[in-house]
Amino acid sequence: MLRVGVTGGIGSGKTTVCEVLAVLGAPVFHADDEARQVQDDDPEVRRRMVDAFGEKFFENGALNRKALAERVFGDPDALRRLNEIVHPAVRERFKRFCVQHAREPYVVMEAAILVETGGHKALDHLVVVTAPEDERVRRVMGRDGADAAHVRARIRHQATDAQRKAVADTLIVNDGRTLVIPQVLSLHERLMGRT
Ligand code: ATP
Repeated sequence: MLRVGVTGGIGSGKTTVCEVLAVLGAPVFHADDEARQVQDDDPEVRRRMVDAFGEKFFENGALNRKALAERVFGDPDALRRLNEIVHPAVRERFKRFCVQHAREPYVVMEAAILVETGGHKALDHLVVVTAPEDERVRRVMGRDGADAAHVRARIRHQATDAQRKAVADTLIVNDGRTLVIPQVLSLHERLMGRT
């Protein structure tokens, strides 16, 4: 079974590509959702987060995600410590996910941050979804109601398209002009070993 990563900058269309792969029958593991879940559900992750950042980010036992995000944004050391707590727990969940789907030809991990952490090296095939920055900003503003400066600040904290492309096995161009579904179908055929 192949383990396939799908990554790309904010608003590039990772989730959209993964939705098409899911329609084609691929099991999709959403690493960012899983990361949120382990922070909510995993007592060991909780304990280590309290040790690292203090009780103040937990109100009546519930994580104040926004406050923690503000705390680690722009502080690489704090972000690294948070990732060192959360990522191993997510990797463990992905391992279990792969075991559950061991009979499938391939499984997909969708992750916003993958090239940045070197996480792609543990996968068999890396798909990078690209779109021009202005287009990505427009999409995220439309989807989340975020302002342009906020989206651009997040983009500055992620890897660049050039860095992602340098390690990609497959590129999917989602620039709003090139058709995406034929590209995903062709990827699926290759992963199924048909082409
Ligand atoms: P994030 O990193 O923020 O989770 P993402 O890479 O997963 O983003 P999507 O959520 O798939 O990106 O897409 C961002 C927004 O742009 C969504 O509202 C989606 O419906 C829209 N979108 C994606 N691709 C296109 C496209 N080709 N044309 C128009 N809108 C698109």
